[in-house]
Amino acid sequence: MAEVLVYVDHVDGAVRKPTLELLTLARRVGEPVAVALGNGAGDTAAALAEHGAVKVLTHEAAEYADYLVVPKVDALQAAVEAVSPAAVLVPSSAEGKEIAARLALRLGSGVITDAVDLEAGDEGPVATQSVFAASFTTKSRVSKGTPVITVKPNSAAVEAAPAAGAVEALSVSFSAQATGTKITGRTPRESTGRPELTEAAIVVSGGRGVNGAENFAIIEALADSLGAAVGASRAAVDAGWYPHTNQVGQTGKSVSPQLYVANGISGAIQHRAGMQTSKTIVAVNKDPEAPIFDLVDYGVVGDLFEVVPQLTEEIKTRKG
Ligand code: FAD
Repeated sequence: MAEVLVYVDHVDGAVRKPTLELLTLARRVGEPVAVALGNGAGDTAAALAEHGAVKVLTHEAAEYADYLVVPKVDALQAAVEAVSPAAVLVPSSAEGKEIAARLALRLGSGVITDAVDLEAGDEGPVATQSVFAASFTTKSRVSKGTPVITVKPNSAAVEAAPAAGAVEALSVSFSAQATGTKITGRTPRESTGRPELTEAAIVVSGGRGVNGAENFAIIEALADSLGAAVGASRAAVDAGWYPHTNQVGQTGKSVSPQLYVANGISGAIQHRAGMQTSKTIVAVNKDPEAPIFDLVDYGVVGDLFEVVPQLTEEIKTRKG
């Protein structure tokens, strides 16, 4: 069976959930071989083996932290040359997409970004994408070179599938470009204690209907009762009620959670573009004609200032 490379997104050895989801998808198209780079790369092996990695290629070097993405591209290229995989899977983060694009260019391969599903095909892996503001679902495959595919978070379930996970050192020699852009400082974002928006299994969002920055406390309370991330429409962001980093949509972030709760959001096409692939969509809106209701699995026609606090209380009570 052909091997499939999975790029491991980890923080000091702690593997992030989107990578475990990639292992689930990788198993459909071949034998997953994980590539873990940088500080703590070796510590990722146990988690990766538990989720189906037959092999874990590791390489630790200061360059991965000190420079932008090129050292990682050098390492992935070395892994492709060593393994000759059927495909390379990369999480669809901003960094992941840059790595994928650069790698595909190096390999002379086609690249597919933001896949939401992956299956085996007669002529290679077939990726599903949601395109044109989620108006269409397309299936495509790379027809040139080693397919490089980025996959959106929450596109697959995390499944335990114990495998050997044998750790092997990857031999990497960095290119001249690798040290071309040095990171001169890092400012950690203030932590809210909530999950990262693009990775969260549940997202609770507020729009113009929230009617003020202070009222976002209602949205945050519902999010916290569910262990969710908080999103916002552009109208709420433009009004200065919530940071741009939380904007969902065409000019914000794309989310694909198991559950998306839209409060006081009309459902404009540009907002849909960022959330339409969510598995279950719930909306609270006082206008029964709001376009968001065309999209939802469950809709509540009502005033969010009445509905949302009741919902929060009910969830807290049920959770005990
Ligand atoms: P509105 O459309 O004003 O809707 C507010 C809703 O709240 C209404 O449906 C109303 O019935 C409801 N409401 C009001 N009060 C209450 C209440 N008390 N209880 C319950 N419901 C209530 N938008 C994005 O979101 N993300 C983007 O990334 C984005 N990118 C864009 C890019 C471009 C190039 C352009 C042109 C636009 C973009 N927009 C984007 C803007 C988009 O077109 C909409 O203007 C925006 O999404 C509207 O936000 P909203 O739904 O919060 O506000």
